[in-house]
Amino acid sequence: MATSPTRFVIAGGGTAGWMSAAALARFASPGSQITLVESDAIGSVGVGEATIPQIHLFNGALGLDEAEFLRETKGSFKLGIAFDGWLREGESYMHAFGDVGRGLGLLPFQHYWLRAKQLGFAKPLQRYSLNELAARTMRMHRGKPAVGREMPYAYHFDAGLFAAYLRRYAEARGVTRTEGKIAHVALDGESGRIAALELDGGQRIEGDFFIDCTGFRALLIEGALGAGYDDWTHYLPCDRAMAVPCAGGGDFTPYTRSIARKVGWQWRIPLQHRIGNGLVYSSAMLSDDEAAATLLANLDGAPLADPRPIPFTTGKRKVHWKGNCLAVGLAAGFMEPLESTSIHMIQSAISRFLSVLPQAGRAMPATVDWYNAQSTFEWERVRDFLVLHYTANQRHGEPFWDHVRSMDLPATLTAKLDLWRESGFIHREHEELFTEVGWFQVLAGQGVEAAGYNPMADALPEADLRQLLDETEVALVEAVKPMARHLDFLQAYVSGPARTMETA
Ligand SMILES: Cc1cc2nc3c(=O)[nH]c(=O)nc-3n(C[C@H](O)[C@H](O)[C@H](O)COP(=O)(O)OP(=O)(O)OC[C@H]3O[C@@H](n4cnc5c(N)ncnc54)[C@H](O)[C@@H]3O)c2cc1C
Repeated sequence: MATSPTRFVIAGGGTAGWMSAAALARFASPGSQITLVESDAIGSVGVGEATIPQIHLFNGALGLDEAEFLRETKGSFKLGIAFDGWLREGESYMHAFGDVGRGLGLLPFQHYWLRAKQLGFAKPLQRYSLNELAARTMRMHRGKPAVGREMPYAYHFDAGLFAAYLRRYAEARGVTRTEGKIAHVALDGESGRIAALELDGGQRIEGDFFIDCTGFRALLIEGALGAGYDDWTHYLPCDRAMAVPCAGGGDFTPYTRSIARKVGWQWRIPLQHRIGNGLVYSSAMLSDDEAAATLLANLDGAPLADPRPIPFTTGKRKVHWKGNCLAVGLAAGFMEPLESTSIHMIQSAISRFLSVLPQAGRAMPATVDWYNAQSTFEWERVRDFLVLHYTANQRHGEPFWDHVRSMDLPATLTAKLDLWRESGFIHREHEELFTEVGWFQVLAGQGVEAAGYNPMADALPEADLRQLLDETEVALVEAVKPMARHLDFLQAYVSGPARTMETA
């Protein structure tokens, strides 16, 4: 029996709303109706500018042209995130995308590096990472692997322009946009499912399935359905961001900077037309005025607007799918943008949803349970990775940093840290977002010592180990030299011939 077409209603038109609309327009079954309701008067959060390489999967699935995408969103390339001062003032490490070093046989590189460290000749990880070597010298390369190694990249982009770009894409494929303020979410008295959105002015939008993309307001999943919220402030105490764009200046970095400050940290994201900046902090330890002053004192160009505070509560809805409603984006919850994960989690929510696309009018309790379990796993593991950056700081004597170093940790993070400390081993469970290499870079960068390494690494004679490290370093350093400067590469790329994501 054929399925009947579904009427999807998307509430909200920020990044989450238009990403959902574009994906449904591309993939939902023929005959589906897709309506998006948004309010220009309310607007969107307007930040969210740094991504991770998985964004290629989303853009590629839509068939976007990469050069056009970068032009339309005033984007730039991103090879990783630099963490300045997170270990101690004056120190910097990078969580760079892509591989680090070279493993041998069964063993990943980290064991050889740990052994070389014990022997006293291991260099910082940056010397063995193609992405970091390129990033630190402001280089960019795309296409054929250099020295047999991929150079994965992501983007920085203007989130408002990205949403506008996807809106054009979605409307061209039949999505209907309705301008208006949602005044009421009407429930079906019998089933408790959402029946319709009622707008100011009386318009009623009925549907079979509703996607809540109303941002922090979470009008449907929380306001109407009372999903509940798991507050994670006891793990990640920052609860505010102060954001301000500024004119271009300083290095046009092919990486995001996360700079530790007295209370919290500052992001710096270079775009074609401006730099995005913000300070993430704890309101219990820093006032808005102090946050604005810190931010304004640390810009590379003239501010282009007044600093804007954005309050948030770190955590997630207890369930992301309830009845005939799915929460996507900020409506689902929020974790600070330390590892640029929010847009990725929008994308993964959409892709998980598409894999079990609901059918009109049918309850699917097993599917909903599966979805929520997957989603919780994903969010908790990302949370653990963020907490790692804070707990392992060595900024002794600074109240904020002393506080976050001594906080209780999630049991899942403690288990990972114990494993690393004992044996230099990193376990990536199921489809956790961050790979062993990502954990390795942050563990090493934050100075978390491993007492041991896998003894199989001792099979390599010391002279050969030294040679392995030296040769890897030299090959990567040489591979970076001919690469173009990021700015030149970007300028040539956005004005050159069209290229689709699949060729990235
Ligand atoms: C400080 C900060 C920094 C961030 N940095 C990053 C980053 O670097 N990388 C990253 O991946 N993510 C980042 N994010 C997250 C990212 O911004 C969001 O995940 C993303 O923008 C999605 O937002 P959204 O669409 O869920 O919500 P919003 O952008 O807030 O959109 C909500 C939509 O709902 C509509 N709406 C609300 N109420 C109503 C109503 N009553 N009637 C009609 N419409 C309504 C609004 O008009 C709007 O269209 C950051 C977030 C914050 C707060």
